[in-house]
Amino acid sequence: MRLILLGPPGAGKGTQASAIVEEYAIPHISTGDIFRENIKKGTELGKKAKEYMDKGLLVPDELVISIVEDRLQKEDCKEGFLLDGFPRTLNQGEALDKVLSQMGLKLDRVINLDVEKEILIGRAIGRRICKDCGEVYHIKFTPPKEEGICDKCGGKLHQRDDDTVETVERRIEVYHKQTEPLIDYYREKGLLLDIDGSKDKDSIFEEIAKALGK
Ligand code: AMP
Repeated sequence: MRLILLGPPGAGKGTQASAIVEEYAIPHISTGDIFRENIKKGTELGKKAKEYMDKGLLVPDELVISIVEDRLQKEDCKEGFLLDGFPRTLNQGEALDKVLSQMGLKLDRVINLDVEKEILIGRAIGRRICKDCGEVYHIKFTPPKEEGICDKCGGKLHQRDDDTVETVERRIEVYHKQTEPLIDYYREKGLLLDIDGSKDKDSIFEEIAKALGK
């Protein structure tokens, strides 16, 4: 199953991604996670990406596209993959089409998580992430059993640097301008699966799984 997860910041992409990759046994490719990993390690890529991420802006296409192209060549992508946070511009979408057609592959579905702006800000601000395993929580809606500690691995939870009100608002604006055109791009290709992302996480996943089948 070759899937893309589209949606504004705070739509629940990370949460749904965890459930989808578990159900379909495919790798989770999150460009945001790749950048955060590079920032943690202090690589050149991480340093460059952080300048944009902290401002709520997109990292330039030329930095992102080659990373995804390389990642898709890896052995574990043979049976499929879930792209989360990529593509984010029409240019990235076209680059992805090119690389997939060179590999003789086709996308199966593009899942579009749709959520209103008011809900998005609250979701992003309350988001907490495990430093060790990346599991996503929300202080109000999906809190861990013990405050600040991951249920899955016992790691410490933290807030992303770019989950402040100001940066989230900027990221939503950037999403409308630069990423939203991809919705029509994939709708025209007949790949789009519109999902109401304002429901609770289990109902959303149920709807996705029903549409994708097994
Ligand atoms: P995410 O974890 O998907 O919310 O991404 C966090 C940040 O990483 C974004 O706000 C961007 O600055 C950067 N980023 C992640 N994926 C991309 C992408 N495909 N294109 C450009 N920037 C990206």
